[in-house]
Amino acid sequence: MSEVTLDLLVSLAKRRGFIFPGSDVYGGLSGTWDYGPLGIMLKRNLINLWWKFFIDQRDDIYPLDAAILMNAKVWQASGHVETFTDPLVECRVCHWRFRADKVNLDKCPQCGQEKSFTEPQNFNLMFKTNIGPVVEDTSSLIYLRPETAQGIFTNYKNVLDVFYPDLPFGIGQSGKAFRNEISPRDFIFRSREFEQLEIEYFIDPRNWQDSFNMWLQLIRDWCDLIGLPTDMIIEREIDESDRAHYSQRTVDFEFKFPIGQEELLGLAYRTDFDLKNIERVSKKSMLYRPKNGEESFLPHVIEPSFGVERAIMAVLTASYKVDEVNGKSRTFLKLSNQLAPYLIVVGPLVKNKVELVAKAKEIFKSLKLEFGSVMWDDNSNIGKRYRRADEIGTPYCVTIDFDTLENGTVTVRDRDSTKQERLKVDEISSYIK
Ligand code: ATP
Repeated sequence: MSEVTLDLLVSLAKRRGFIFPGSDVYGGLSGTWDYGPLGIMLKRNLINLWWKFFIDQRDDIYPLDAAILMNAKVWQASGHVETFTDPLVECRVCHWRFRADKVNLDKCPQCGQEKSFTEPQNFNLMFKTNIGPVVEDTSSLIYLRPETAQGIFTNYKNVLDVFYPDLPFGIGQSGKAFRNEISPRDFIFRSREFEQLEIEYFIDPRNWQDSFNMWLQLIRDWCDLIGLPTDMIIEREIDESDRAHYSQRTVDFEFKFPIGQEELLGLAYRTDFDLKNIERVSKKSMLYRPKNGEESFLPHVIEPSFGVERAIMAVLTASYKVDEVNGKSRTFLKLSNQLAPYLIVVGPLVKNKVELVAKAKEIFKSLKLEFGSVMWDDNSNIGKRYRRADEIGTPYCVTIDFDTLENGTVTVRDRDSTKQERLKVDEISSYIK
């Protein structure tokens, strides 16, 4: 397991402005989290990296942004209305509700009463709402999407008709998903509102094994790209008895989170289950017509499905480090340059010397123009600034001092080694690159 505890992560996330409990000022709203300035920068960087790696750098994946609100038929056809449920039990004594498969049913963890649980009931996780200026009846009933995948399946035909890509091709999208989890818990790990990064990869079923293996490797490369060490990741082959009925193979990538080894993301071979469902309910053909004149067929699908929150929690867990500097304990986030909210922090050694501040501002502006994610910090003394920069994972600190005015050099401090080097102002950029 990881060295870092969940409490330490939650505390750092709040203290440094990464992630706050949702609606905190009103007493909170269970299962919701707000991303503060640092958190949203980390999240954006992670999503952008996913986008770059899986969409921009490939020629076989089309991006998409489907609406969150969808016709209720989508969820009837996909089976979510019927089966997207978790087993719910209630303690007869304290009336606390739990997910039966995530709790030891011998004794209520809330009130301690033994054998107090009701029989499990199926509880549907979809949030319901009503659309249009109508009374709340079943004709206006719609759902907040519990996954982004169905937005992709419902647009498969649109993409096919417009672009007519060769198989295999994929459609990817990032976006919010909502699940009314019975017991949201463990920080952002199990939230009721979260973000997914999903790709549906349409294939000729004869080649499913090759495609599946390609995706296994791509996911390993992705985990490496975001800095997750291989010894913290476990690829778990899901037994047939535990797989969704339509899945012919599923591999869960589990991660050693501070809460234990849990699912980080999943890769599933979904066969033609989804396109078949759409055909059945919409009565429209989803067939693919091969360009070589072979008979039309329904493509099968491989689905790599990632959750942003779990990726962020894994990244924070893996990057949280404690070492000793000058006899004092130091906490830092060893984030990659691509993920760190800020790449550079710039500031004058002291803030009451006009010339120093002016020079520092000048350097700050030019670095900001070049790198974008550059932060100005002239608060408190330099030691405290370094500590702050370390805790938010900033790789470089640039300090402007009196020598800068004399000879045009600055101090550049490296987060991981804490080593400081004197560089000429025009060398900073190439040093960082
Ligand atoms: P679990 O078994 O943990 O409930 P799941 O198997 O239902 O997860 P999927 O339906 O496969 O999850 O969803 C794909 C991905 O979306 C997961 O691997 C995870 O990263 C993310 N995810 C699912 N539910 C949540 C949630 N409640 N909060 C945060 N992320 C989630």
